[in-house]
Amino acid sequence: MTQETRHFPETPDVVVIGAGIVGLACAWSAIRDGASVTVVDRDFEGDRTSYGNAGGIAVTESTPISVHGLYWKAMKWLCDPLGPLALDWKHLPAALPWFMEFQRAGNRTRFREISLALANLNSRVYDDIVPMFQDVGYMNHFYQRGALTVYETDEAFAADQPEWNFKRELGVRWRAMSADEVRECEPSLAHVFRKGVFLEDWAHIGDPKLLVTRLRDRVRQLGAQFVTGAVRALDPSDALVPAAVLESGVRVKGRQIVVATGAWSAELAQSIGDRVLLDSERGYNTTLPSHGVNLSREVIFAERKFVATPLDIGVRIGGAAEFAGLKAPPNYKRSDALLTLGKKFLPGINDSGAVKWMGHRPATPDSLPVIGRSPKVSSVIYAFGHGHLGLTQSATTGALIADILTERSSKIDLTPYAISRFSK
Ligand SMILES: Cc1cc2nc3c(=O)[nH]c(=O)nc-3n(C[C@H](O)[C@H](O)[C@H](O)COP(=O)(O)OP(=O)(O)OC[C@H]3O[C@@H](n4cnc5c(N)ncnc54)[C@H](O)[C@@H]3O)c2cc1C
Repeated sequence: MTQETRHFPETPDVVVIGAGIVGLACAWSAIRDGASVTVVDRDFEGDRTSYGNAGGIAVTESTPISVHGLYWKAMKWLCDPLGPLALDWKHLPAALPWFMEFQRAGNRTRFREISLALANLNSRVYDDIVPMFQDVGYMNHFYQRGALTVYETDEAFAADQPEWNFKRELGVRWRAMSADEVRECEPSLAHVFRKGVFLEDWAHIGDPKLLVTRLRDRVRQLGAQFVTGAVRALDPSDALVPAAVLESGVRVKGRQIVVATGAWSAELAQSIGDRVLLDSERGYNTTLPSHGVNLSREVIFAERKFVATPLDIGVRIGGAAEFAGLKAPPNYKRSDALLTLGKKFLPGINDSGAVKWMGHRPATPDSLPVIGRSPKVSSVIYAFGHGHLGLTQSATTGALIADILTERSSKIDLTPYAISRFSK
């Protein structure tokens, strides 16, 4: 167990479990509100989902993954072993309730409700994330250059129009581009794209791992105590001072506990009787440090379901959604398949020194994060389940958790993010 020597209250106001981007953003916000904070992680330096993501500040992603009619496309994708969607059939029995709820999330009424809740979070992302970037000295790795979605066929572009129009209703700014405009916008792309959609409010960062490292250092500098250990369960038997119980048996106590353990959060919620549907939606990418192409902004390849982001550390080509649980080893053939697509659409890209990676998106079936107090133990607060948008919504989640910790009323209605939605 690692402990700092500076003066620190025996029982901190807040224990944050999980030092990914979400947990650290919660710790950062709580400290700035004047709370004493202990952060617990099983491995502060180890790889985590927040290190290897695509780096997109994807504020325009305000519709759930489960869209009407996706099931038929999904069936087709599942037939391709290295396609955009994969399921390890051994994982199916465990994941079945998740998939059933996923299907429900695509019905028209629910789709609309979820979209409004996502748009509410996304609409305040920059108000929360820019001050955090400023405070940790990250502004020179923050690129507000928009993003470009590209289409190989007019049919796919036309098929997506209802969703784009609905996004416009939600406040998303976008404009359609012709083939020539796409070429002008990103000249390194292969000349095969018939249409594009430019998303001016999207941004990207230079290196997600560097951001986590800077934020962790800043949180420590602001006075947080760091405890290394895997949390096995929560123990609320002392209502005033609940504890996080480590595998070693050590109890880390605080007046309030924030659970921000990403894709690993369901077990901790269960340990106090809260049910949640959470699965790992495993994603893959390859980072090309010597790429040799000129890309200015993130590009989303609409039909192939992958993205390319020009990070400071190289072009990162990634995507895929693989459901195989938390323990199955990575299948890096998926990174290879994505790289093959990248080479096709970014001709001449150099793959020497390529680094492959897999991470666990903490996915709820309705694409909404879990943010709010436990209905069972009011001193436990949840901040997990951000799926594809954990980087984007990190600082906003931190700000909302700070509101909850201090009993301040939040600027947005938090009901849609409550864990109790999984018990209905
Ligand atoms: C391929 C890919 C691309 C992505 N692209 C984007 C993107 O462009 N934009 C975006 O916004 N999001 C993106 N995401 C999603 C984003 O990366 C995640 O939503 C986000 O990183 C989740 O952060 P987190 O802090 O909740 O979880 P994590 O980063 O996984 O952190 C969880 C932490 O909890 C710790 N932990 C877990 N269990 C325990 C325990 N029992 N005891 C102690 N510690 C524990 C872990 O060690 C870890 O440090 C992408 C994800 C993937 C996989």
